[in-house]
Amino acid sequence: MTYTLPALPYDPASLEPHLSATILELHHDKHHQAYVDGANKALDQLAEARATGDFASLVGLQKTLAFNTSGHVLHSLYWQNLGPDGGDKPVGDLAAAIDDQFGSFDAFRKQMTAATVSVQGSGWSALVWEPVGQQLMVEQVEVHHESVLVGSDPLLVIDAWEHAYYLQYQNRRAEYAEAIWNVVNWDDVARRFAAMRG
Ligand code: MN
Repeated sequence: MTYTLPALPYDPASLEPHLSATILELHHDKHHQAYVDGANKALDQLAEARATGDFASLVGLQKTLAFNTSGHVLHSLYWQNLGPDGGDKPVGDLAAAIDDQFGSFDAFRKQMTAATVSVQGSGWSALVWEPVGQQLMVEQVEVHHESVLVGSDPLLVIDAWEHAYYLQYQNRRAEYAEAIWNVVNWDDVARRFAAMRG
């Protein structure tokens, strides 16, 4: 299977003023596309290695595959997690689970904002469902694929790479990490939570 870039599910200007159209267009059309291309290239190179029986470059290929495929998966989720009608806070089962796990929505939000702000270098924060313990957790992903909670399913992801905010917020990542809450599509997050819990 070849990966393809999914269309942005909304007009790139529709998240303004919280995220500019310029950021959305570059981020989606150029950065996300690069991860799609990188994943496909790594898959081609792995197919070639199988065909020739030459696995001398396998370790590097595995890292490249993990970086690019994880980047594609995270960005595909990020676009869906945001929306022009977002903001406020979750309701229903997801809200109750967040209260149970984190004490309150505000406590959860502070923890996840801190995770976004404090990523060293490039990475993500994520609200995930951890299936063994059957509970929500906040995860801080380094790059796209390191320091992850293995087996956990991301419900909400926030991109903390500079390309996600720098054109608008410059070095003020904390402002971006606060502003992004205005465009979180909680209906999307709640659908994913319901699906994970079965
Ligand atoms: Mn990104």
